[in-house]
Amino acid sequence: MVNKKCFKCSIEKPLDCFYKHKQMLDGHLNKCKDCAKKDVSKNYRNNIDHYKNYERKRNSLPHRVEARKDYSLTEKGKEASIKSKKLWIRFLVVSEYSGGPDPGDRVKIGVEPLYSLERVRALANDPKQVRLWTRKVAKDVQNLFGSEGDVAELLTELQPHQYIDSEWCTNGLGVWAACDAYAVRRREWVSAVKKEMNMEYFVKFAIGKTGALVLVVSCHL
Ligand SMILES: [Zn+2]
Repeated sequence: MVNKKCFKCSIEKPLDCFYKHKQMLDGHLNKCKDCAKKDVSKNYRNNIDHYKNYERKRNSLPHRVEARKDYSLTEKGKEASIKSKKLWIRFLVVSEYSGGPDPGDRVKIGVEPLYSLERVRALANDPKQVRLWTRKVAKDVQNLFGSEGDVAELLTELQPHQYIDSEWCTNGLGVWAACDAYAVRRREWVSAVKKEMNMEYFVKFAIGKTGALVLVVSCHL
């Protein structure tokens, strides 16, 4: 068998290690099969880069940028954007209730309490079961009541007619809780103005997934 030296790797190999090619004198390429394969895959990789570059350039053309912007403003475009975001955002729901619309889709869940007042009252009777969800809530509670125990007391006094609605609330870190919102009117002595005033508190809370704690999500005047 005749050997032939590959011009690329300079290794002498038997003729059947070279691809056949009619126009070559000995009917074979001067580049061995191994080197030919390497070149093909290298060329392929280069083509991918080339293709990606081409796409990138094309997508940054002014009329294409405009077209994307226009599309993103249409109903279809908005839907597509929400859909693609949904693939990435995993909603972490910490409340016992997790049905209804997806958090992020729609804030309002409904106009029927998600958690029975009986359970909420029972839980709130133990101030240790009342958790303030965010730093902002902790600050609000501190300003309004002075202590967490007082907001627990407010929860134990909730009445059905004070219910407003139920909605998704987030702590801003991708964590969601399905909450019942109540408005509580109370006559209170306000030392700042030295007189009794009608105060109205808005309280939002959820029972946690473990069924054991009430997360106070929002509390303000
Ligand atoms: Zn070679």
